[in-house]
Amino acid sequence: MSPKYVTPAGPVSRLIEEFHRLPGIGPKSAARLAYYILRMPEAGARSLAEAIIDVKEKIVLCSVCQNLTDVDPCSICQSPERDRSLVCVVEEPLDILALERTGQFKGLYHVLHGAISPMDGIGPDDLKMSQLLGRLKDGSVREVILATNPNLEGEATAMYLQRLISPLGIRVTSLARGLPVGGDLEYADEVTLGRALEGRREV
Ligand SMILES: [Zn+2]
Repeated sequence: MSPKYVTPAGPVSRLIEEFHRLPGIGPKSAARLAYYILRMPEAGARSLAEAIIDVKEKIVLCSVCQNLTDVDPCSICQSPERDRSLVCVVEEPLDILALERTGQFKGLYHVLHGAISPMDGIGPDDLKMSQLLGRLKDGSVREVILATNPNLEGEATAMYLQRLISPLGIRVTSLARGLPVGGDLEYADEVTLGRALEGRREV
């Protein structure tokens, strides 16, 4: 008889598999998380499960800026304190958190939900670009800041948008250099990001 490997009970295996699907979680971490949850008091486990269901049920995209929100329009788009003539374009919702941490930006945002990447088959139509152009129609926006990631896809996306927006007579700027090349905006520290925002230049 061939030796049988002992595998965890079905529900435990399933939980390990689910964790393994998450970004940055290898098989060992997945197993560790699953066993941690097994040892948790039931109330804690239930609360975690409910939090996961809650984000799926209650979070929608803001109909104006496309950011994740539980109220539509989102709190930033609704705020009377924000400068509505300034729109900062980012790739992902997490980039907004990074820019908000600098405390230096008082305009509105627009989330593309990705960047142009021919290699991955992602073109302009797969991003929230038409929604952005729709926002620029009424003439209230004076400046669009392109804050895509400082990598190949981010640069290509910024260039594409610049060609579309410049002819509308709107000032188009991008973040100053100094951000780590190839990196993601969301990982930039506040000081660097704040400086990049301050030193933005026309493209
Ligand atoms: Zn919004």
